[in-house]
Amino acid sequence: MPILVSNFNHSIIWIMDVIINYFSDMPTLHRSLMLVGGLTVFFLIEQAVPLFKINYNRASHTLLNLFFTLTTVLVNFIMAFILVYSADWVVANEFGLIQWIPMPLILKAIIGLMLMDLIGAWFVHWVEHHVKWLWQFHVIHHTDQHVDTTTANRHHPGESVIRFIFTTLAVFIVGAPIWLVFIYQSMSLILTQFNHSNVKMPTWLDRALELVFCTPNMHRVHHHYRQPYSDTNYGNIFSFWDRIFGTYVRVDNKKLVYGVDTYMDKKQTKSVWELLKIPFTGYRQPIQYDKEEQL
Ligand SMILES: [Zn+2]
Repeated sequence: MPILVSNFNHSIIWIMDVIINYFSDMPTLHRSLMLVGGLTVFFLIEQAVPLFKINYNRASHTLLNLFFTLTTVLVNFIMAFILVYSADWVVANEFGLIQWIPMPLILKAIIGLMLMDLIGAWFVHWVEHHVKWLWQFHVIHHTDQHVDTTTANRHHPGESVIRFIFTTLAVFIVGAPIWLVFIYQSMSLILTQFNHSNVKMPTWLDRALELVFCTPNMHRVHHHYRQPYSDTNYGNIFSFWDRIFGTYVRVDNKKLVYGVDTYMDKKQTKSVWELLKIPFTGYRQPIQYDKEEQL
């Protein structure tokens, strides 16, 4: 028995070693392939088994969202050295939670990943919905009236900077080495492409995945056009943050209407230039309704 346990431990250590080696020095080419590959796979699945019929011009919709995906990639590429420097600094100075608290490497990876997702995705997203000038940047993501996998990185360049700052903050709080940052960014990318995809999934699969991860069924309601539903399910990788912080809802996805009620004019939501200008054109008050909606 002890031999078995020791073999198991050795296997874990070996696997962790392989993972850490790969992600410590993840080639830019692999990161690009992941972005394009993920988009392609989900795009094809959407074509085969869509939840909502694709009754819009997919080419122009994709083109617009790819423009914002490209600016997101550019912002992150230009600022990447800051993340690398911060990750190296926390390791060299033994700074941050997983550096301070002794625990096995596998636990450092799992807890680190969870906290990176909490600070770098859930928390920044929540803040963007509650601070007016940040909302004006984030609203571009919500103006999409046909949510699909290409919506995932439809972010104003200003929002990409805001999110980058929170990811860097997460590195310092967590004490994340660069391999953990790259694992987090890779998972974050695939999960956001997944949970925005217009895919019809079997209920059993959705329920099983949603115990841990944010599924499309869970995230879609966040893109409903009016509050309070748009202020729910902020998560990206892990589904439990919304449950813990009381922002979790489950609704019938078929009743959803995508977009954001303050910006429904398609002339504005389909133009790159108009979308880029939104943060600088004044805050629009939330629309008040006579009747509360029950999805
Ligand atoms: Zn949002």
